[in-house]
Amino acid sequence: MLSTTSMPPAFSKRLFVFDFDWTLIEADSDHWVFEHLCKELYQEQLEAVGKVQWTDLQQRLLGELFDRGVSRDDIEKTLSQVPFAPEMIEALQLMKSQGAELYILSDANTIYINTVLKAYDIDHLFTGVITNPAEFDKRGRLNVVRFHGLDQPPHNCPLPCQPNLCKGQVLQKLIDAQTWQQVIYMGDSTNDFCPSTRLDTNDIVLARRGLLLEKEITERPELVHANVVYWNDATDVLRATEAILFNTLSSSSSSSSSSSMSATTTAASSTSSLLIDVSSSKAAEVLSPVESSDSRLHAQAVRA
Ligand SMILES: [Mg+2]
Repeated sequence: MLSTTSMPPAFSKRLFVFDFDWTLIEADSDHWVFEHLCKELYQEQLEAVGKVQWTDLQQRLLGELFDRGVSRDDIEKTLSQVPFAPEMIEALQLMKSQGAELYILSDANTIYINTVLKAYDIDHLFTGVITNPAEFDKRGRLNVVRFHGLDQPPHNCPLPCQPNLCKGQVLQKLIDAQTWQQVIYMGDSTNDFCPSTRLDTNDIVLARRGLLLEKEITERPELVHANVVYWNDATDVLRATEAILFNTLSSSSSSSSSSSMSATTTAASSTSSLLIDVSSSKAAEVLSPVESSDSRLHAQAVRA
C-alpha cells in the first residue's frame, strides 16, 4: 500500500516531470535532425558518441549544417515529423485535466523541444521546459549552449549525470518549490537515474523497460526510494497514468496473469512497498521498438 503517514494538503497537486528523447517522443531529437538533414554529419555525430561533450558537439555540428545550406525552416519541418505517440499525448492531456503540473527536463534543447510540442499542439500542457538553451540567430544558424555552463562551478554530482546538466539538482528545486501530493518522474536513460533518487516513498518513477535507467535502478536499488513502474510503450504510460491519477496503484492484490496491469511486487528499495508493472506479461520477451534502432548508440552516449 502507498504510505498514508504523511498525507499532503488536499489542495496540493501532482508534479509530473519528463525526460524527452525516447521518453515522450519515439526518437532522439539530436539524432533525428542530422539523420534526416545530413547523412554525413549524422555519421560524424555517431562516431563522436562518448568522445566529445554532447552539447558542444551539437553546437559545432549545427554550425556545419548551416554552412551546408540547411535552413531554419528545414530544421523546424524535420522536427515537426518526430514521432509522438497519440497515447502519450492522451496521457499528458489526462494529467493536465486532473490538475497536475507538467515539466520537461531534458538534455536536448529548447528549440527542438518547443518545436515538437507546438507541432503536436501540446505546448500549453507544460508549465516549463528545462533544457539546454538554444536559439536561431538572424541568419538562421541554430546555436545551443550548455544548461550548466562552463562559467559556473562544476555541479559535482556523484551520480552519472552529464557535466552540462544534473537532472537531480533541477528536479530537487522543483520538488522543494511547493508541497506536492505526489511526484512522478519518467525517463529512460542513465542521466534519469539521479532524479529518480530524489523521489520519496510516496512518489513514482516511470522507467522505460530494457534501457539504461532500468539497469541503473537494478544495480543500485538502495538509492531509489520511490515506487518503480516499468513501461514499454505509450499505451503502458496511458494505463499507468490512469492508475496514478485515479489511485488504483495502491492495490496490494496479488498478481493476475490475465491482466495487462498487475500491482504485484516490491519497489526498487527495501523501504518501498510497491512496484507496478504496467507492461504486458510478455514484456520480458518483447523488445521495445527502440531496442532495434539508435538507442544503443544513444545509450553509449550516456545521455538523455
Ligand atoms: Mg531519454
